[in-house]
Amino acid sequence: MLNRIIFLGPPACGKGTQSKKLAQHLQLPLLGTGQLLRSAIAAKTPLGLEADVYLKQGLYVPDSLIENLVKEWTATKPSGWILDGYPRTLAQAELMKKTPSMGAPNCVIGMKVPVEILETRIEARRQCKDCDVVTNTFVYSGSSCPAPDCGGTLYARNDDALDNFRMRHQQYRSLTEPLFDYYRSRNTLLEINGNQDPDSVFSQILQHFNSEQCVN
Ligand code: ADP
Repeated sequence: MLNRIIFLGPPACGKGTQSKKLAQHLQLPLLGTGQLLRSAIAAKTPLGLEADVYLKQGLYVPDSLIENLVKEWTATKPSGWILDGYPRTLAQAELMKKTPSMGAPNCVIGMKVPVEILETRIEARRQCKDCDVVTNTFVYSGSSCPAPDCGGTLYARNDDALDNFRMRHQQYRSLTEPLFDYYRSRNTLLEINGNQDPDSVFSQILQHFNSEQCVN
């Protein structure tokens, strides 16, 4: 059973949206490490204060800052999980494999989107302050949250400024992209073209799940 699933892909490729859909479909718990860090920053916890220094500059946080959080979270989810944003480096992938409570993922969904498309998406991305729902100005032009019964205020993430995005994309190219080869050689990579509408991306993902394999 494919129950240890990770999403790989550049900022704004849609991995947040797709991981939420898949978690709901498979009834698996989901952890988004970027969202976890942003919540810690908003709550001004010691971890948040430390992470803020890196996120402001568009840099990944040090592996040591994130690994225990993910280790502890997965240890309480013996039936499986979906991770959006971890591992993001080869060192994190190796650590994961060696940690008994985590183990190597048995399905890696790698999403690709050209950088010029990502830039237009980043400029349009909006998130709700109250419920964290993510939308964009292409599909919704209001200033309050479109989720039913919410009505929270929408905002553009600080790290979605173009300079910050470009730095994050550079970090992604040098630190995360090598993971495509790493997991391809382990036969766990499902490569998906993220440059399509969200429903088409999701049906491509589901097709692979329905055929009970995750090998490209
Ligand atoms: P995006 O996919 O748009 O870059 P995320 O919400 O996934 O956004 O992550 C936001 C930021 O959180 C990253 O740019 C990075 O600084 C930090 N982060 C999240 N997960 C990790 C991780 N596994 N290792 C290092 N930094 C991380």
